[in-house]
Amino acid sequence: MAFAPPPAPGAPLSRQAIAHLLLLTGAIALVYGAAAQFSLRFASLPSYVAAVWFPSAFTLPLFLGLGLRAVPGIFLGSIFGLMEVLTNQGPSPLAAFVLNLTCALANVLQPWLARNLIASQIPPQALFTSIKSGLVFIQAAVISPSISAFLGVTVHCAVGVISWRDYGTSWTSWWLASALAHLVFSPPLLLWRDLQDRDRRQPLPSASYGIFSIFLLAVALSFRFGYRVGYVLLPTFLCVSVSHGRFFSSVLVAFISLFAILVTAHQTLTFLGENMNEGLLFLQIFMASISITSLTLSLSIYDRQQSQIALQDALKRLEERVSERTAELRNSQAQLSGFFSSSPIGMGIVDREFRLIQFNGVLLQILQIQTSQQSPIRSLADLEHNLGILVTHISQVIRTGEPLLNQEFRNCLKSGNADSQKLSLIGEFYQFRKKGERTWILSYFPIFDGAGVLHQVGFMVIDISERKRLECRLQQQACQDGLTKLANRRFFDQAFEEEWQRAIARRHPLGLLLCDADHFKNYNDTYGHQAGDRCLIQVAQILQRYGRTGIDLAARYGGEEFVLLLPNLPAREVLAVADRICGAIRQRNLPHCGSRVSDRVTLSIGVVVAVPQEADGAAAFLQGADRALYEAKRQGRDRVVQLPFPTTAAPPCDAPVADWPDP
Ligand code: GH3
Ligand code: MG
Ligand code: MG
Repeated sequence: MAFAPPPAPGAPLSRQAIAHLLLLTGAIALVYGAAAQFSLRFASLPSYVAAVWFPSAFTLPLFLGLGLRAVPGIFLGSIFGLMEVLTNQGPSPLAAFVLNLTCALANVLQPWLARNLIASQIPPQALFTSIKSGLVFIQAAVISPSISAFLGVTVHCAVGVISWRDYGTSWTSWWLASALAHLVFSPPLLLWRDLQDRDRRQPLPSASYGIFSIFLLAVALSFRFGYRVGYVLLPTFLCVSVSHGRFFSSVLVAFISLFAILVTAHQTLTFLGENMNEGLLFLQIFMASISITSLTLSLSIYDRQQSQIALQDALKRLEERVSERTAELRNSQAQLSGFFSSSPIGMGIVDREFRLIQFNGVLLQILQIQTSQQSPIRSLADLEHNLGILVTHISQVIRTGEPLLNQEFRNCLKSGNADSQKLSLIGEFYQFRKKGERTWILSYFPIFDGAGVLHQVGFMVIDISERKRLECRLQQQACQDGLTKLANRRFFDQAFEEEWQRAIARRHPLGLLLCDADHFKNYNDTYGHQAGDRCLIQVAQILQRYGRTGIDLAARYGGEEFVLLLPNLPAREVLAVADRICGAIRQRNLPHCGSRVSDRVTLSIGVVVAVPQEADGAAAFLQGADRALYEAKRQGRDRVVQLPFPTTAAPPCDAPVADWPDP
């Protein structure tokens, strides 16, 4: 029912609202009056008590829809509808007036009470949505007429229209007439909106046509031929309740009841008993039974259907959500796989047992793993690969739950051993020459499950070998002499200082050879500078050969001067090395016709050996070697001279090397 919304409480009524209210009141009064007249046509008991009080059928829906705005219409409708009949039977005009007012009041109070009974238990809009709401409605329909029956019948008795002897019968009939109106005719009015709800209507099952035929037959037998087979109508109500829902079943009940009232009124009825009262009672019981049965049945079905619909909706929503999530998951899986496979970095995810859950080709290349369907990777721990450190690092992440980032790992593929020892500078200088060495940067991330438990570890392996090699080359270039490829002076100074300190710490001896090519200026002058360079390269090679790889450091000290640093070697061995170098140069037989000491290239070597003690004594040690070299030059060149260290001898004069004396 589409009604204008009620004005806010306390707000003054607009003209339009007043006009609307008047129109509404008039319409309600008119319908009420007509319905009252219609009901009275079927009144059979004394004082015109009707079998069904039709106005009550719509006063409850009106109250539920309009609230108190329905009061004036109902009140006036009752006054006008009953005026004639009450005036005719009233003992006096005043008694008729009192009767009329009391009935009007009773007819207003009844739906008001019904509405409040309903509203106190369920929200009015939830009416007829469940069995409980149906029972609430039945309860309101049954209780509320008692007040109007009480008021109406009492006043009727008081003014003498009904004898007090008939109070009980009259009260019951009044009460039943109104209760039946609520039960039988209010539901179709309250449920008419179901007509718009086409989705819920189901097609009539073919069996129902047969049942409908039985219904027609039962109607004809009961009402036309007077056989008492009214109970045959029940399957029809069941069928309509199941197939057509609550509205149509309530319409059918209303239709049958109306039909029964009509035939009862024409006294061709089955329900007519021995007398009119009995027949009326049978009719009312019949209507009450079919209406309550049909209502509860259709509501239980409706309730079930609603639950099914809600369940289906929930299922549909769930399915949609699942398919959405599946698509999202598939997308993110595809993104992750794409990211994994296209990444130039080795990537993998392992579980706590080191099983590779996900990995890319780059990782397999780095780990040098061949996989196939026949031999899938079981556990990283079972594999023999160059990155054995992976398992150690992953264990650490599993243990601590913390990421482990940017771990540099060097590995020599030939030996397969990790080179984790800290190298001395000399050691590092030799490392530059290593071939096949690879370096990786390793990072690890813990992966937690929904419960916050670490269940996987993701890791990335970046091969930085090329970058490292380049770095090494640059480092090497910075430390190496370009011509002879020996360490340069700068590197020697650092390494010498480090070895000096190390020798102090370990109480090792340290030997130093300072070598100088004799009359090399003349060599250049005679053979040219390029030949001089080649000669210096040969000298460097000899020095290199007689030093211990990875331990001793041969360096170009400047011009045609070289040093050989010999850590942890006894003094006599140091001297022996110097002698061997001197002899080797001689044996190399490099012609030097410009030399004044030989026809071959020769070396003068100054030697110092000491067990260093003073941290700042390195410079003095170097000076000692210089002094020894000076002595070798002075004594005639092409020789080895060792001076004790520390020495008390005067330092060599500041004179340049060219001024060293000839023998
Ligand atoms: P002494 O026996 O006293 O050492 O005489 P010397 O001529 O070797 O000494 P001097 O210091 O007078 O000369 C060193 C020479 O070494 C001068 C220079 O031409 C030469 N020399 C220095 N560095 C290089 C180089 O890189 N290449 C060439 N070819 N010659 C160099
Ligand atoms: Mg020199
Ligand atoms: Mg020289």
